[in-house]
Amino acid sequence: MEERILLSMNHMGGTERRYVADAFDTDWIVPLGPHVDEFEHRLEQFLGCDKRVLALCAGTAAIHLGLILLGVGEGDEVICQALTFSASANPIKYQGAVPVFVDSEPSTMNMDPDALDSAIADRIRVTGRKPKAIVVVDLYGMPADMTRILSVADRYGIPVLEDAAEALGSTYKDQPCGTFGSYAALSFNGNKIITTSGGGALVCPDDVSRKRALFYATQAREDKPYYYHEHIGYNYRLSNVCGAIGCGQMDVLPERVKRRRYIHDIYMAELGSMPGVTVQTNPSTDYNSNFWLTTVQLDDADAPDRIRLALAAEKIETRLLWRPMQMQPVFADAPYYGGDVSETLFRHGLCLPSGSILTDEQILRVCRSIKNLL
Ligand SMILES: *Cc1c(COP(=O)(O)O)cnc(C)c1O
Repeated sequence: MEERILLSMNHMGGTERRYVADAFDTDWIVPLGPHVDEFEHRLEQFLGCDKRVLALCAGTAAIHLGLILLGVGEGDEVICQALTFSASANPIKYQGAVPVFVDSEPSTMNMDPDALDSAIADRIRVTGRKPKAIVVVDLYGMPADMTRILSVADRYGIPVLEDAAEALGSTYKDQPCGTFGSYAALSFNGNKIITTSGGGALVCPDDVSRKRALFYATQAREDKPYYYHEHIGYNYRLSNVCGAIGCGQMDVLPERVKRRRYIHDIYMAELGSMPGVTVQTNPSTDYNSNFWLTTVQLDDADAPDRIRLALAAEKIETRLLWRPMQMQPVFADAPYYGGDVSETLFRHGLCLPSGSILTDEQILRVCRSIKNLL
């Protein structure tokens, strides 16, 4: 019997147990602690700039706190990439704000800067107010066209929150994803490029904003001898035990990025010249995706689900692309700007097994099966 091949599995490096044992030995089995501090410090070093990192219990929490710090509140509009996981958009609703979805460009599959520009202009015309923030995503690890997105955002004076949950280790024009815009969110969920079993981080522009985010993440307790609250707070901090796992994962992060890129190379070599198949790749040398997931576009719109089911019978897990937000019942009322690019990408797209734990032979098995089916 052949073994299961999953889309993206957690992949321990070996040193995590030592850090976790250290957390036990020093009795730091609490939210926060020295391992969270070290994890944050190492993320800051990895991102290689003067941003400040706040480790949190989830990437979704990071997006939520980012929006709070950008002043998003009741009735505000927030622009959000349409083709994404719902966690990019849900926190807009947590704030009582209104998401306005924007279509993608085909090459990066991320927010189309021209559609963004028209969306902002139209929202100002319709509501008389600027959208409060822009959530742009680096989908499947591929950086968005940050130069053009940030230039549109700057022209209107609207801050950007980068959802880099899938893009730790990616770079755009040699600048790490997770450092663009005012704030950025990272995720360490079990299927991401590194994991703390569950966790995330908010990348903040400076120490003052990090302190403010920390305040909201720890129940918004004012500086008084008694519990005194002027704001609604959250319990969003990372446990020190999870922080310890994160320290171990930082030891292997560069290797994990290298491996995902190598897996993408195998897919390119095996499937890149097949008729009817387009493997997504870096659109130019400006882009250096971590290839968290390698995705393909299939000419035949029936092919993605047909291949998904056939491969599932061979115990190979693939996944359709994120179903765009304008196609989600829960966001049916939200304004949408653009054409049918995100919907077309969704209908023709398939995510292939890309976990760094997979062997070359396993990836080749996936390729053989796909070739047979086409
Ligand atoms: C995983 C993910 C998130 C949410 O991260 P969690 O840690 O699971 O809360 C947000 N946005 C995108 C694009 C993601 O892939």
